Amino acid sequence: MLSELERTLGERAPSNGLQLTDASALSSHPTDSSRVLLGLMALAHKARSGPAADQELLEGVIDSGVLRSLLSALHFRDPGTLHHVRRTANVATSLARFLGWEGRHLKILEVAALLHDMGKVGVPDNVLFKPTALSPDEAELMLLHGNIGLDVLQACRVDPLVLEFIGSTHTYSEGATSRFRNINEVPMGARILTIADAYDSLRTEQAYRPGKKHAEVMAILGQNSGTQFDGNIVSALGRCCQDHGPTDYEPGVSNPGLNANGLGPLEALEASTLCHIFNHLYLLESLYDGFYLIDSDMRVVVWNRGMDRLLGRSATEMLNRTWTDRELSFTDLKGKSLGEDELPLQRVLTTGRSVTVSLSARHANGDSKEIELQTVPLLDTEQRLYGVAGIVRDLARAGRKPQDFRELRNAATRDPLTLLANRGELETQLAVHLADQLRSPQANPFSVIFVDVDHFKSINDNYGHSVGDKVLVDLARLMQKEMYSGEVVARYGGEEFVILCPDADLETAFTRAERLRISVSKMKLAEMPGRGLTASLGVSRYEEGDSVDSLLRRADQALYLSKHGGRNRTNSLTLAQARGARENNDGPTDKDPLIFRAEFDALVSNDMVIYKLGGFITDNDTKLVKVTQTQVIMHVGRVSFIPYWGKDAASQPVELELNIGKRVGGHNPNAASCNTKLTVQMKPRGWIRQPEIFQERAKQVFKDLRAFFVAETPLT
Ligand code: GH3
Ligand code: MG
Ligand code: MG
Repeated sequence: MLSELERTLGERAPSNGLQLTDASALSSHPTDSSRVLLGLMALAHKARSGPAADQELLEGVIDSGVLRSLLSALHFRDPGTLHHVRRTANVATSLARFLGWEGRHLKILEVAALLHDMGKVGVPDNVLFKPTALSPDEAELMLLHGNIGLDVLQACRVDPLVLEFIGSTHTYSEGATSRFRNINEVPMGARILTIADAYDSLRTEQAYRPGKKHAEVMAILGQNSGTQFDGNIVSALGRCCQDHGPTDYEPGVSNPGLNANGLGPLEALEASTLCHIFNHLYLLESLYDGFYLIDSDMRVVVWNRGMDRLLGRSATEMLNRTWTDRELSFTDLKGKSLGEDELPLQRVLTTGRSVTVSLSARHANGDSKEIELQTVPLLDTEQRLYGVAGIVRDLARAGRKPQDFRELRNAATRDPLTLLANRGELETQLAVHLADQLRSPQANPFSVIFVDVDHFKSINDNYGHSVGDKVLVDLARLMQKEMYSGEVVARYGGEEFVILCPDADLETAFTRAERLRISVSKMKLAEMPGRGLTASLGVSRYEEGDSVDSLLRRADQALYLSKHGGRNRTNSLTLAQARGARENNDGPTDKDPLIFRAEFDALVSNDMVIYKLGGFITDNDTKLVKVTQTQVIMHVGRVSFIPYWGKDAASQPVELELNIGKRVGGHNPNAASCNTKLTVQMKPRGWIRQPEIFQERAKQVFKDLRAFFVAETPLT
């Protein structure tokens, strides 16, 4: 059952949707929160510049492509919720029409009903699909979905009344914390929506109770009239159903034309990107007290509930306003007002770097609020400014719960086993140092040390994994003890560590590496009496023209020399030496180990290949690069900020070229069993130390891909 609006939309040529797929290309950003904010910003950007088609149909309430994309994401995540919002939209519009609504307001209500549960897209699986009633903690988490839905809808630049209807629905059902004193203060659209939503939820079978009959539901709504529901509207619903029959109801029945696999590959890809954004918004909403987004025209695009709570300024007031830091009368913590060049936004715009400051902001009621404000520039791949995000922590709240906050923040930047910086944090730090170096080339260069434990696998094999873990923890402690001020020690992955040494030339870094190597070899490990530990190290120093990637790659190359030279040693490489080493060692061979080729017969006709790819794409974090009738090129897995191949599939991105050949066998073109020859070619993206790793990964990707085409082998 489609909603009215969707039926009309469906008769028109589909628009291009959001084409959010390029948002993932933007995601080479160092930290997760800026990545998700960038995705959100990309949404805002698309919503603004999206096609104007269907505008007369939607009367500017929402861009039709955006609406379609959002519903696809809901479909992708949880078809059950999609059916619920459609039924809710139908009930709400029938009811509103019965009450005399028409025109634009009716449309706004319908869009609000369709989108009122968008935030559920980001709810973690274990809560969203929990078969029993939710625990209080889980219920609290679930409640956040209202906020997340609003964040995204703001970014999508939907009509403010849509936000008002949805926002009031959720606020009102929050009871004690509601900003309304009684039901009559709630906007009419929200009152209708609340009833339509409750009506459908009660009619529908839930995991923990069966669906209820129309009469039963009406009785429940009646009992709660005046408190939760508007009694007049409840009676109107009763009369409306008498007039029209109790709305053609198929509660809980899924539409046969729709299921999670019903999306085209591009749609599915886009939907999965959106789900990703929603999912991370969950973290952001739970980790921080507030956040806002400003577009490149310096207009406020997102102003979340937390900001409203913190500063007493509502989204209605703030959205679309031109932002200046003067807006909130920032002062330092002593109450001294900030100079022009001390204002966070100004500092971000001049340095291009994120700025974190503790300051005092003015609450709407005149009070001063102490906050920590992190202002983050959102840059696209060409380093153009896309927007700016403000992430805010309430210092008063943080004061009360320092432990919690520290844990949460650590979770984002620390490796949980060793408590060293994690790889993401290292990426951020390296990017910062590189940017400094580019800005002031005369400054002292920085170096990196790559450390890899020797024969670590044999420790696991001989003493067990938990001893292995303990050794890693001891080693991390040692490295921290050996550390010089300003150095960053990070766990790069497995038994590999990287140390970033600011202000250190190659010789200095080499000396430090050697000192560390000797300390490691002298370690006494209680868990492994009589057995020592050694490590191999590689050192490189920033040189002109280096990227984070090339710098790390060189340290890793040096490490490789140490392994080959017999382990328990340190090597360093300059740019010139590294080039020489490559030319001597890696001459072209007739069979390139960094290319994988294979082919198979797919049990589908060639025009169906693209559709079958959908499942593979959504399962494998894949981005389509090129699609024609005969060829698909895609990137499987994402290149991280440092495109270095790690040990897990997620850090082994490949470019996959799929050539769609002719039909083979099956002379009858309509036969279900006709085959298509598919040729696959893969190469790694990013750089790797051992070609064997690539060949293994490519083989796995090939198997996964083939599974989507041969799974339905017809019995012959
Ligand atoms: P090499 O001297 O060539 O470096 O040999 P190696 O055995 O150290 O290197 P390899 O890369 O072959 O193996 C690394 C091992 O580290 C494999 C993996 O099981 C283990 N490992 C990775 N992460 C962890 C971890 O968190 N805990 C434990 N206990 N082991 C880990
Ligand atoms: Mg290793
Ligand atoms: Mg090792």
